[in-house]
Amino acid sequence: MSDDSPIIPISPEVPLEIAVPAMPDDDRVWVPQAEGVYFRPLLLNTVTGQWCNLLKVTRAGIVSRHRHPSVVLGYVVKGEWSYHEHDWVAREGSFVYEPPGEIHTLEVPEHCEEMITFFNITGAMIYVDDDGKQIGYEDTFTKLQLCRDHYAKNGLGADYVDQFVR
Ligand code: FE
Repeated sequence: MSDDSPIIPISPEVPLEIAVPAMPDDDRVWVPQAEGVYFRPLLLNTVTGQWCNLLKVTRAGIVSRHRHPSVVLGYVVKGEWSYHEHDWVAREGSFVYEPPGEIHTLEVPEHCEEMITFFNITGAMIYVDDDGKQIGYEDTFTKLQLCRDHYAKNGLGADYVDQFVR
């Protein structure tokens, strides 16, 4: 910024910006959520219920069958995956729009050793069985708690996740 740039007053209510490398140097930042499934928090919004994270899957096969009450946006950073219910494949560099209300089954193919995808989620992940009955859920608050518990145990400290909370 040059010296003659206008000074724009920022309201103290404006939350802090954030700029971090999405892919962490330190593996402890990845929070395990199931066997071979990890997430890396980037934004946990406690007002709107939105959260952003990287999802990393290091095994092939079905990851989960789920429904979203709200829109989900994704961008594939590495590897590939698909939904049983659709004939497209999300590959490195793919953008994915998931409409609210849809039920789908996330699967990583045999030949993919690791997939990493950025997801922007609002509302919840509602896990369902083959009949569409709810068997679990996640939201920004359950994600936040998983982060706190994991970071408290691995030395980063429970408050490491606070930088991502808005
Ligand atoms: Fe989904």
